[in-house]
Amino acid sequence: MMNIILFGGPGSGKGTQSARLIDNYGLYHISSGEILRDHIKRGTDLGRTADSYISKGHLIPDDLMISIIEHTLDTEAKDKKGVIFDGFPRTIPQAEALADLLKRRNSDVHAVIGLEVPDEELTARMLNRGKETGRADDNPETIEKRLKVYHEQTQPLREHYIKKGQYIPIDGTGQVDDIFHSIREGLREKTGAEASKS
Ligand code: AMP
Repeated sequence: MMNIILFGGPGSGKGTQSARLIDNYGLYHISSGEILRDHIKRGTDLGRTADSYISKGHLIPDDLMISIIEHTLDTEAKDKKGVIFDGFPRTIPQAEALADLLKRRNSDVHAVIGLEVPDEELTARMLNRGKETGRADDNPETIEKRLKVYHEQTQPLREHYIKKGQYIPIDGTGQVDDIFHSIREGLREKTGAEASKS
């Protein structure tokens, strides 16, 4: 079992690199943002609640997010050989809850991949994604708010995981293939895991 957290600012390439990790390591993908967007699309109660936060660039409350992840771990992700957490945790209480959830399932976090990208590039990428995909929260006002929230609430997790010896810093600028190559090297060093494809 190998559980990996993919960590980084909004627009840092978590979704893109997740797709490669799933393919190469056979991991199950849990993207908190995708779960929430799916609820919004289906018009569920949870979707309506989530939308009221997401559209303002705020994080949804920890308790709600943690219970969604717990439910996913016990349903879709049950019996998988490992999980890639994409966009979760985003706060220290979420990180502590995740450690606890995994411990209770006789597991652990094995590595945290940190995609490090400067703010200016994050902004440019999100504006571009907004144009290409129509993603509602990729607009200038919400992007500014999301970056502020990232620095205030999420970035402290970097230090948290460095202290735990789980953090793998990755330069998230440049070509997608080169970034994935660095991730593979980092994972091999930290966990001994080898990608199935070369
Ligand atoms: P993402 O697709 O990861 O960029 O997430 C899009 C939005 O969903 C974020 O800006 C938050 O409003 C919300 N969200 C996603 N993951 C979390 C989380 N772990 N905690 C709280 N809010 C989240």
